[in-house]
Amino acid sequence: MPNPKICREQTCLLEREAGQEYCTLHVRREGKTSEDLSIALEKYKELCGRQIHNAYLVKANFSGMYLDHCNFKYSDLTDANFRDARLYKVGFDFSYLDHADFEGIILERVDMRRIKSGLGIYFYQTIFDYVLLPHVDKIGKKCVYDTQEPREPQKAYDVYHDLIHIYRRLGYADSAGHYYECFMDAKREISTGLERVWLTLLWLICGYGERPMRTFLTFIFLIFTYAILYVAVGGPTEDTNNFIEASYFSVVTFTTLGYGDISPTGWSRLLACTEALVGVFMNSLFIFVFCRKMIQ
Ligand SMILES: [Zn+2]
Repeated sequence: MPNPKICREQTCLLEREAGQEYCTLHVRREGKTSEDLSIALEKYKELCGRQIHNAYLVKANFSGMYLDHCNFKYSDLTDANFRDARLYKVGFDFSYLDHADFEGIILERVDMRRIKSGLGIYFYQTIFDYVLLPHVDKIGKKCVYDTQEPREPQKAYDVYHDLIHIYRRLGYADSAGHYYECFMDAKREISTGLERVWLTLLWLICGYGERPMRTFLTFIFLIFTYAILYVAVGGPTEDTNNFIEASYFSVVTFTTLGYGDISPTGWSRLLACTEALVGVFMNSLFIFVFCRKMIQ
């Protein structure tokens, strides 16, 4: 015969709230206060241990609390507020953390790898001390400050910077690469003048070193653009003034092969010089970007 005063949640031994069938942790009420949660969590640890199953903590307020050595399993912490809290050795296995607010707090040895979802999670000026994060798809490809209006590129820049280092340390090359691109996008947005031009160019021709395919396509684009230019100025020579011959000459010049069977004349000489210079740069860039991705 179940005790009528005890919470109906299977693993829970806490007393029910007045007029409810569940305790403070399990009753389906939003916006639970930090005072209520402190008392309930302390009792829960005493009676049931450190694995907190199926807690309903939507919009719960953990601000100012010190949470340590516990694991919220299969719990719903959507929109939970952790500001001014401190978390030490806390887990969130199979829980929801969407839009949870971790701004400005210390996360020490917190394990979020197995969360169910954490889209729109707020990290800003969060101190990550041996924190384990899940793959990019679980916390969203863009951080909050990069998606909401008004956009805040400086905040996005700071958060992506932290995420890159965490993912590199964890060995998640894909996630680290993705946030590196986001980081550089934010950097481009807050930069001015020549730096902005340079970053835009890098984004276009190689995705900041993350997209070898983009470099390859730029390669092809430049070769045919030069071929058209050669035809426009009268061909590499008068005898070879057609697109096929100009394309052949363009490939030979761009790749710096320089067979020498066609020697440009007139304006084509100047074009050939610039194409050779661009070609040297693009060849080196392609090898660099390709190898960079391969060894990640
Ligand atoms: Zn309960």
